[in-house]
Amino acid sequence: MKPRRASRQIVVGDDRVGRVAMGGGLPSDHPMAGAGLGGLEAPPSKMAPVTVQTMTAGYTHTIDKCVAEIHKLTAAGADIVRVAVPEKKDTQALPEILNQTTVPIVADVHFHFKRALEAVEAGVHKIRLNPGNIQDRAQVEAVIDACKERDIPIRVGVNEGSIIERKDKQARAKELGAVFGEHKHGYLLAIMIAKLEEYLDIFYERDFFDIAISAKSMDATLVIDAYTEIAERFPHPLHLGVTHAGPKETGCIRSVSALGALLANGIGDAIRISYASDPVYEVEDGLELLWSLGLRERKGAELIACPTCGRIQVDLFTLTQDVRKKLAAEIQVPMKVAVMGCVVNGPGEAEGADVAVFAGDRKGIIYVQGEKVATVPETEILDRLLTECKAFQQRVRDGEAELGQKRVDIVPPDPEGELGSGWEKMASERLAATPLTVRET
Ligand code: SF4
Repeated sequence: MKPRRASRQIVVGDDRVGRVAMGGGLPSDHPMAGAGLGGLEAPPSKMAPVTVQTMTAGYTHTIDKCVAEIHKLTAAGADIVRVAVPEKKDTQALPEILNQTTVPIVADVHFHFKRALEAVEAGVHKIRLNPGNIQDRAQVEAVIDACKERDIPIRVGVNEGSIIERKDKQARAKELGAVFGEHKHGYLLAIMIAKLEEYLDIFYERDFFDIAISAKSMDATLVIDAYTEIAERFPHPLHLGVTHAGPKETGCIRSVSALGALLANGIGDAIRISYASDPVYEVEDGLELLWSLGLRERKGAELIACPTCGRIQVDLFTLTQDVRKKLAAEIQVPMKVAVMGCVVNGPGEAEGADVAVFAGDRKGIIYVQGEKVATVPETEILDRLLTECKAFQQRVRDGEAELGQKRVDIVPPDPEGELGSGWEKMASERLAATPLTVRET
């Protein structure tokens, strides 16, 4: 993992919903970190954790449903929620939505700059503009001025298909073409960079620097290349995303391959995983990605589960799903919980788990920090495991137990006695397969 890239921090939110920072960590002598461009005054800031963002899937103007969806996404762990405001009735709904929600809200504006002005007036916490469809300089300036007056940051979200006119387009395209000529995505990268330069010039000329940038595509490799270039060229926080990634089942791989590569290289200050599925999954998977990379402190249990194999003797897939749901609902302490199908590799694979179950022969043996606490039939594994997790959580909260400690090493249960599972089966299979050798006399 490379260290996070520094950028000029922006802050999204207010006193009521709280403030969520993005980016930060510029050295104090960087022109964007202190008095510099346009007499800007912004003290160097500490690097903020990478945030998880998502977007509501329903209509913004159906206020009750929109509020309910935002509550659901907030409960799932979203740091910032975006809503679409294609029509005036959507921006008119914003004051009521903002009143009833407890998370910073971003208005997603396309085509109509007036929606941005109305959203700012309504008190929204951030605006997303698309340079591809709001290009008129006077309109962009009007939005910048409105946001500046209220200290609202703007995300400039350039997508693969966005086009913007620039006076020196030919010359700049030639320049960038020389840089990207050999590159797989050379032409698109050159256009994206040129568009961003053109657009951001308008912001800089008006002394507006509270900017985040995104450059999404449905092509994961273009996303990696585009953000890598942008990270080098612009000192603003980056909102990562693979757009139109598809349903969760395939979109997950496409998103995580691009976002994981960038984050591992220190690039990215916010992530939005976008699925053609319930956006709660976007939040859950975004958090899991950041937890897995150690970029956010895990909230709740970390589940380790074996993939199963021919040694399995319980319905581990169902058990794992049930355990996952129960842990998500009832455990807030970041304990490790292992669900293992047998004792062959289980103890090794569950090393470091605070609570573990090793199954076999329709039974499960439950361990807490290496100590065996129960042997239960398969039907009781879920309840007993959860009981032990909750008891352990309480002990951690009371200071009686520490996460990640092992009181004793896990000793694999006797496979022939207690579980009678994999080893016994394998041993008898091996015996049967071994040809008898008869000593010649
Ligand atoms: S823990 Fe046992 S059942 Fe699960 S994959 Fe490993 S060997 Fe197979």
